[in-house]
Amino acid sequence: MENFEQIDTCLGVYCHVPFCAHRCSYCAFYQEQPTRQLIEKYLATVEMEIDLLCVKSPFDTIYIGGGTPGTLPPDDMARLCSALVKNNGMTKPAEFSVEFSPATVKREKIEILKNYSCNRITVGVQSFDQKTLRTLGRRQSNKQVFDACEIISSCGVENFGIDLIFGVPGQTIGEWIGDLSCAIDLKPKHVSTYNLTFEEGTALGKSLMEKMICKKSVEEEANFYLRTWAFLKENGYAQYEISNFCLPGFESVHNSNTWRMQDWIGVGPSACSQYKNSRFANPPSISKWMKNVENGNLACKNPEIISEKTLVEDALIFGLRMNEGVSISKLKNRFKNVDFGRWDAIFSDLDQQNLLQFSEGTVKLTDSGRLVADAIAVEILAV
Ligand code: SF4
Repeated sequence: MENFEQIDTCLGVYCHVPFCAHRCSYCAFYQEQPTRQLIEKYLATVEMEIDLLCVKSPFDTIYIGGGTPGTLPPDDMARLCSALVKNNGMTKPAEFSVEFSPATVKREKIEILKNYSCNRITVGVQSFDQKTLRTLGRRQSNKQVFDACEIISSCGVENFGIDLIFGVPGQTIGEWIGDLSCAIDLKPKHVSTYNLTFEEGTALGKSLMEKMICKKSVEEEANFYLRTWAFLKENGYAQYEISNFCLPGFESVHNSNTWRMQDWIGVGPSACSQYKNSRFANPPSISKWMKNVENGNLACKNPEIISEKTLVEDALIFGLRMNEGVSISKLKNRFKNVDFGRWDAIFSDLDQQNLLQFSEGTVKLTDSGRLVADAIAVEILAV
């Protein structure tokens, strides 16, 4: 693959900042402790990687995630933004998002981001309950969360979101509704609610194994989901994906594009890409990634070619998680070599069970279907 020329579809860029001040107990992501030397090398390598990728068209969306991008000091944040927006010339991306943890939000950083056309900030709050935060190994106070939201709003970033986690061991439904309530009091435009997954090898996973504590039951989890959806709806937040809610017009453009199987390029260690029927991933190791980039050995040189059938399966699986559902007619136009009839029996069976609705060429999950989306994904992959 020589260079990236997007013509008729959207192109996003995801930049992974692999630094965290300490590891949360549930975290299985690749990350490193930031040091001055490592940050310098990281930034120089991102600049080199973007130059070598030689993307020929502007990015429609830019997303800086991690890790904790907010661990970067202000000048480093500016350098990273500069490397990413350089590719866009004078074209502003439709959306430029950055993830922050509450303690890392500082006025100087937000003002720098705004100068680089950042228009969306999400804050990984996870919980307002000190017991839940302790279980998650998160070190933050609610004052830091309130200050962070005040700084973001007063800097004029209208579109800010709050991320929360539910299904934490020991967390009651009342405590969870309390978390949702505290979140919406801060008037975010977007709320993400993630069901905690227990990864083997994490501190939390090990501790639960030792204490023989089980995950919440299927019924308990379903109750958490349904109460979340009802609470946010009552408070004006429309669900547009199983875990994502927003005020009208504030859906994440970058994430929605990836769920619709549009293309994106990943930059930084462990970042994945999907580009024109191929996928490739940088190694989840800062030193290996740096060595590869220094040697011009980019991940895109070893792409995995994705069949149209796989792309359609993924478009169905991720698209069905969205409330808008999937337009089968649009997919048929885009992937002309795929036999869509193979899923007819599944869709009809799910329709009869009231898990899915099919109308005017679009398939959508019902609320009951959304609760078993993972099982439906398995069925879609099985034919
Ligand atoms: S901030 Fe995110 S990436 Fe960093 S340790 Fe916590 S969960 Fe993992």
